[in-house]
Amino acid sequence: MPDSLPPLGELLATAVGAVGGAERPGQVKMAEAVQAAIRTGEHLAVQAGTGTGKSLAYLVPSIRHAVEKGSTVVISTATIALQRQLVDRDLPRLAKALAKPLKRTPTFAILKGRRNYLCLHKLDGGPADDPDDQVLFDPFAISRLGREVTRLREWASDTELGDRDELVPGVSEQSWRQVSVSARECLGAARCPIGTDCFAEKARAEAGRADVVVTNHALLAIDALGTAQVLPEHDVVVVDEAHDLVDRVTSAATGELSAAAVSIAARRVGRLVEEDIADRLAESGDGLAMLLEDVAVGRMDALPDPLRVTLTALRDAAQHCVTAIGPEKRGNEPDAVSARKQALAALEDVHDTAVRVLEAFETDTAHQRDVVWVTGDFGSQNPRPPTMRVAPLNVAGLLREKLFGENTTVLTSATLTLGGSFDALARQWGLPVAQSSGVKVEGTAIDKEAPADEGRIRWTGMDVGSPFDHAKSGILYLARHLPPPGRDGLPPAYLDELRELVEAAGGRTLGLFSSMRAAKQAAAQLREAVDGEILCQGEDSTSLLVGKFAENPATCLFGTLSLWQGVDVPGPSLSLVVMDRIPFPRPDDPLASARQRAVEARGGNGFLTVAATHAALLLAQGAGRLLRSMDDRGIVAILDPRLSTARYGGFLRASLPPFWSTTDPAVVRGALRRLDAAAS
Ligand code: SF4
Repeated sequence: MPDSLPPLGELLATAVGAVGGAERPGQVKMAEAVQAAIRTGEHLAVQAGTGTGKSLAYLVPSIRHAVEKGSTVVISTATIALQRQLVDRDLPRLAKALAKPLKRTPTFAILKGRRNYLCLHKLDGGPADDPDDQVLFDPFAISRLGREVTRLREWASDTELGDRDELVPGVSEQSWRQVSVSARECLGAARCPIGTDCFAEKARAEAGRADVVVTNHALLAIDALGTAQVLPEHDVVVVDEAHDLVDRVTSAATGELSAAAVSIAARRVGRLVEEDIADRLAESGDGLAMLLEDVAVGRMDALPDPLRVTLTALRDAAQHCVTAIGPEKRGNEPDAVSARKQALAALEDVHDTAVRVLEAFETDTAHQRDVVWVTGDFGSQNPRPPTMRVAPLNVAGLLREKLFGENTTVLTSATLTLGGSFDALARQWGLPVAQSSGVKVEGTAIDKEAPADEGRIRWTGMDVGSPFDHAKSGILYLARHLPPPGRDGLPPAYLDELRELVEAAGGRTLGLFSSMRAAKQAAAQLREAVDGEILCQGEDSTSLLVGKFAENPATCLFGTLSLWQGVDVPGPSLSLVVMDRIPFPRPDDPLASARQRAVEARGGNGFLTVAATHAALLLAQGAGRLLRSMDDRGIVAILDPRLSTARYGGFLRASLPPFWSTTDPAVVRGALRRLDAAAS
């Protein structure tokens, strides 16, 4: 262990010099706060606007800590794009730049879930994955599966990391499953005949030796859920893109149950136990298939008796199969061990999800822990069979206990304060709100339930601001004169307004719509009315469309949710961000509506706590697409007049960057024309 390391300021200056940037006050403040959090063990939520250089602000104190203490720091991201930026760009440069002052080269590694790596044992003839019934009876799907698996085999002989994200273009989930295993299906390195060459094991070993391990929120959640020990020992976690943490953790904790899953489990188990035991499971699956066909898609508020009986039978049949498989026998061949593990993994999924669904209906709304809903699509060209899903209403307890309870945690993003306060997100993370340093405004989201053991957790909320001068660089246009948004597509007045704005801007417009239907409608109408090209999400890959949009300033790009958060186009190609309506969750969104109802059952304000918070986060993310570099100028236009007129409008406006604001369309069109003229 190096005895005395240079102070943080010196290391940060070296790091900034190495990546070719200038020192920024927000970055220095953030780095000092991260170091203080690591030293005191007091968690930190730090909002840092675009251009702060926040990755360096957490990486430098993290690396310093890891080298000084000989420990490991975990950095978690929501997106692959940020993961790549850290591993391919920031960390290699930092490692090189900091090697001399730290007296050794800091090390880093990337770690994903086992399912993300090619399993050489499976590829080498281990038990293949059972295709689901849909694939079995679809000749096109079978031939695509065959083609993709052949391509995967060719790729396997070339790849050094076996990481699914390296495979471009990607393959279907069904094909990938033929060459990968879950953690529960894996034989374990000691047992596996190819364990020494295993990609997942190599990644784990490398992560175990690294100072910094980069991972994703899903793996962080799996580690927290305790289903498998997936991350190496660590004492500090930095959660970047923390605005997405709750959604990602919720997804990782969501269970699925379908007749196809039962049928796969029954086929796997049928090779290992007596026929009548596996048949009982298969019959319960058939019963489930029949009953689910009559269940309406959407949230389930009650469990019909026949479904309860079938789920109970399914649970018991799965348990019976587990008992029949029995304990592992010594000296079994790897293929036999593998077949047993595959069967048990499928059985556990069926059993555990059936139990969760049954238990979800045992308590009243105020104390409900899980929400259940049914998805499926029977009428379209790509029908999907009905599937029951069960997800936690709240992940605050899990995060409080497993994330904040076991590590020092730094949460960061450009958007963490909503309505001017950290409270809304702090509640979702399970942090006590009284300690946040945010400024509360009227209408701040409230939920009456206070976490029981929150007093033990200490944290600080800090906004290090943004290097942009929002009031001078951008205008927030609130189209107060427009009618409220309709139920049936975009009102004609919205399309007229959009056309006038796009014409004034000379293209350069990112249209963020609350539904794909609205994005397509706007694209179709504007193609008739304006000269420049209108690109619409779904017509090509999103990255290709964003590339085209960035290349040609006369172009507009319209789309929905992934564009709200994923577009980074600095320069004059993007001068106008238009949002058609406040992005509240859809009324039929099962999870949001159940969360809202649960807050109300406890006497809180469900609409503000859930719907307005969701909308505020997306609005802030959408508005954040405008200014991406210091020279950027432009307008964020929100067509939905409720932002000016509704009671909750103040909370939403206070969540947006501090642009100069107007409701005058003539002022906005004038500003757009001037920007267009200056850029042309
Ligand atoms: S150790 Fe597990 S993941 Fe690795 S090759 Fe063997 S079975 Fe596959």
